[in-house]
Amino acid sequence: MSRFAEVIVNISHPDVDRTFQYRIPESLQDKIAPGSPVRVPFGSREVTGIVIAVTDHQEVENNRLKLVSGIVENGVPIEGQLIRLAAWMRETYGCTMNQALRTVLPSRRRVKSRAKIEQVELPEDRDVPPALNPEQQAAADGIWKEIHRENPRTCLLFGVTGSGKTEVYMNLIARTIAEGRQAILLIPEISLTYQNVRRFYRRFGNRVATINSRLSAGEKYESFRRAREGEADLMIGPRSALFAPFPNLGLILVDEEHDSAYHSETSPRYRASETAQARGRIAGAGVVLGSATPDIVDFYAAMDRKMAIFPIRSRAVPGSTLPQVDVVDLREEFRAKNMSIFSRLLTEEMTDTLARGEQIILFLNRRGYSGFVSCRSCGYVIKCPHCDVALTEHVGRRLVCHYCGYEMPEPSVCPKCGSSHIAGFGIGTERVEAITKKMFPRARVLRMDLGTTGGKNGHTRILKKFSSGGADILIGTQMIVKGHDFPNVTLVGMISADLSLYSSDFRSSERTFQLITQAAGRAGRAGKPGRVVIQTYSPEHYAIQTAAAQQYVSFYKQETEYRKMLGYPPFGAMLSILVSDAGEEKAQACAEKLARGIRESFSSLEPVVLGPSDAGIAKVQD
Ligand code: ADP
Ligand code: ZN
Ligand code: ZN
Repeated sequence: MSRFAEVIVNISHPDVDRTFQYRIPESLQDKIAPGSPVRVPFGSREVTGIVIAVTDHQEVENNRLKLVSGIVENGVPIEGQLIRLAAWMRETYGCTMNQALRTVLPSRRRVKSRAKIEQVELPEDRDVPPALNPEQQAAADGIWKEIHRENPRTCLLFGVTGSGKTEVYMNLIARTIAEGRQAILLIPEISLTYQNVRRFYRRFGNRVATINSRLSAGEKYESFRRAREGEADLMIGPRSALFAPFPNLGLILVDEEHDSAYHSETSPRYRASETAQARGRIAGAGVVLGSATPDIVDFYAAMDRKMAIFPIRSRAVPGSTLPQVDVVDLREEFRAKNMSIFSRLLTEEMTDTLARGEQIILFLNRRGYSGFVSCRSCGYVIKCPHCDVALTEHVGRRLVCHYCGYEMPEPSVCPKCGSSHIAGFGIGTERVEAITKKMFPRARVLRMDLGTTGGKNGHTRILKKFSSGGADILIGTQMIVKGHDFPNVTLVGMISADLSLYSSDFRSSERTFQLITQAAGRAGRAGKPGRVVIQTYSPEHYAIQTAAAQQYVSFYKQETEYRKMLGYPPFGAMLSILVSDAGEEKAQACAEKLARGIRESFSSLEPVVLGPSDAGIAKVQD
């Protein structure tokens, strides 16, 4: 059978919408795959190009179809590697080749004037690396050895919060650069703060390139251009930094690898740590995943010896220990007639901490879910009439829909049963702020959530103010507990652990465990003892128990037992199909037809088909 190659001929400005089809000669059929560099006739000349796809479909008439002349022998250019990665993504995540190519290839929108890159001021003095402690050194050496083996495994750096994983990364990056190769460091967007990135500039000078989602396409293009043309050795950024076109990539590091921000929410729905491993294999680069709370699936791979694991069990700063974590049963508080959002223990701890002149972090899980209004008598929840979501309480007794913006005044009696016991179940950050100010009138309070972080550097400004001692209490959503280092914070309070525990996701226990552990990691990092208070209606839940005891392995064991029973990952793979249409009945009928079709067509695989059922949010804007 004849086979055909889709070829991009202009490598320096890859235009994925403009491919040309060529016939693959018999002699080259085994050698050509997506990513292969080829020589092809083009007009009266012969040019080089890259194969992006191989097909059986002839799209050009015979008299105009030309043959691939040959394969370019001297190595695969960087675009070839990225195209191979795109082909892997298409196959793994089920997107189209064009979607995959648009994700991996640098934006083609080159700016006219050279873009100005948002850069931190570069200090003249470069930091001298501190001596690694024995555990850090053992991890760094072990990883270095593993990634230079014949068939290297992905390395899992499993270090408790504050164990100094960043120093291990820097050590590995320095060795990689000394070898004449380049490195990529992925950091969740929310932790790409001034203070975090600055540490890398102080160590590696101006051969660092960064990207973040606030950059324009032109600025991002400029950062990637520096990577491609040898002007940078290290790329730091969120998941898209994974596609930095370094010609001789030696190392990919994924910090906080469990973070949900590493899952792309648009097609291709890739997971960065998994895609990092694919790029590592294609480029011949080592891959290191770092976390205090690894994704269950990755820890399972490490226990199965498919990954190499390197633990760091103690905190790096001498004298710094893991904080004490107390779990407060909110049902007990209710029985003791304490109606405040603060338990008696948390109030006491806050008073003591403020008296010592130390700082406090209070956090809520999510903006949207923490402020719904329900009836204590009949359980009725007030929802948006246009969207299938609960309305959120805002100041001034307004209820707002976070999906469509619908607003209504808060009713004083239950619309269903008429009871007057209708109130916010949880509370939003604004309410926590108001109550805190009332209870601790002398404390300086800062609030950080999506509402206060507007503007280009809104959240950096708030964090900077807090870390320099400009406030006593910082209130926010989970964005404040990720990866920031506040030396004077000795108390962390989690207002309610239940909201994340009962979200409709098989990972809800894992997410709750991660959240509590990360929050606990914020307390007492610089030699001062830290305390954490977790308030919950389910103090006996294993995710809360093990997180309070800071026992990841114990959590892992219970969680995997439960997942094994239910066939959840890593013991099974799950695929969800979302059907949407302006007509509810049409969507329903289509979903049912799909479910039937899948049961019949794949019966030999014995798939478990759930549903069809309503989506998490079944309706938005009618
Ligand atoms: P992690 O990312 O593992 O939570 P960090 O890398 O943020 O931890 O390090 C925690 C703190 O320990 C930082 O303030 C860092 O400067 C310090 N640190 C790391 N390694 C050392 C070391 N070898 N000696 C002294 N302090 C260290
Ligand atoms: Zn009611
Ligand atoms: Zn709405």
